Amino acid sequence: MAQWNPWHGCTKISEGCRNCYVYRIDSRHGRDSREVCRTGDFDLPLRRRRDGRYKIASGETVYTCFSSDFLLDAADEWRPEAWKMIRRRSDLHFFIITKRIDRLAQVAPADWGDGYPNVTLCCTVENQDRADYRLPLYLAAPVRRKIIVCEPLLGALNLAPYLAYPAIMQVIAGGESGPHARPCRYEWVLDLRRQCVEAGVPFVFKQTGACFVKEGRTYAVPRSEQHAQARKAGIDYLPVRADDEMPYRTGSTLPILPDTLFPADTLPGTPSRKK
Ligand code: SF4
Repeated sequence: MAQWNPWHGCTKISEGCRNCYVYRIDSRHGRDSREVCRTGDFDLPLRRRRDGRYKIASGETVYTCFSSDFLLDAADEWRPEAWKMIRRRSDLHFFIITKRIDRLAQVAPADWGDGYPNVTLCCTVENQDRADYRLPLYLAAPVRRKIIVCEPLLGALNLAPYLAYPAIMQVIAGGESGPHARPCRYEWVLDLRRQCVEAGVPFVFKQTGACFVKEGRTYAVPRSEQHAQARKAGIDYLPVRADDEMPYRTGSTLPILPDTLFPADTLPGTPSRKK
């Protein structure tokens, strides 16, 4: 697994951006995340070692543009070169997540066609309003590998109308991280899973987020536990499909036990979020 951030910084465009981790981390260093700049790693996919081999070895999954949005307008000047690098490294798999699927038609390269086969372009939705705006565009978009990312999950979602399309390879759900995280309710996660099971679409519960509500109780979950707790839920749904190519994460069979989570009011300095 490799990470490639060709540019850094972003503009908030929807509710899911409110507590953006890029802003949170930049603020610690006195940096303004609204100033978008090309990074020193811009040409990373093409960089080579002394022996001539690429720094990013063939076959790697490259998590791309996780300190910005790949389709951000402020990066229009740099993106054509980034597309060229993606096309040239057809031996890598580029994993991209965007909130700006509505810009793809404007900024896709001329030879994009139905989408480069080495690109998974995920569409993120945080609430029903954004799902109903972005997902019809996403379904119609020329993207070969489509995944819906419901993170941060801010409310119950009805994705059923969009899951009927075989193009959707997977749904990923997760709560919000950070000190100001908004609650993620387990019943929303379970309901998304139910919709995926009914549609035969793989489902992954990636992380609880920092403020997790289960059976009426609110838990402040430390960052180090958020992924582990989601795995312990054991609710990933990974049907074997003829077109499966993704290395889906194997779910644990352990249930989430209340005593493995931390009640919000037991952590020092953490205000209770009990409702
Ligand atoms: S689109 Fe992503 S990177 Fe940009 S502000 Fe929103 S959450 Fe942050």
